[in-house]
Amino acid sequence: MEKLLKSKNLRATPFRLEVLTIFGKYENAIEMSTIESELGNFDRITLYRTIKSFIQAGVVHEIHVNGDSKKFALCAEGCENLHHQHDHIHFHCTVCQETFCLDTVEMPSLNHPTFTISSFDIQAQGICESCN
Ligand SMILES: [Zn+2]
Ligand SMILES: [Zn+2]
Ligand SMILES: [Zn+2]
Repeated sequence: MEKLLKSKNLRATPFRLEVLTIFGKYENAIEMSTIESELGNFDRITLYRTIKSFIQAGVVHEIHVNGDSKKFALCAEGCENLHHQHDHIHFHCTVCQETFCLDTVEMPSLNHPTFTISSFDIQAQGICESCN
């Protein structure tokens, strides 16, 4: 975890490491409230700043689920300085309401004659492994 922060040019503060460890515990994308309850005692502003710096450095990415609720998940390699490059889809389980980053699905390449597409987000819905 410390190495990950250093590779993204972030100082490995105890709080950042603590937040990152929480991400590491979950296989699915997590909400801010999940992080908050895992932390127990924390300063909300510090937490929001930490998440923001993680997003900016390419450590985590934000996922908008069904347009309203926001979740966060660890990035794979290749994300840095707001250039998030994800070759994965966001899978939302309609039973447990959890969201997962799925890497194993082959991504389509999107091209448009006049619009330059720099990134896109594919959301899929269905039933996850443990609910199936
Ligand atoms: Zn990313
Ligand atoms: Zn599920
Ligand atoms: Zn993702």
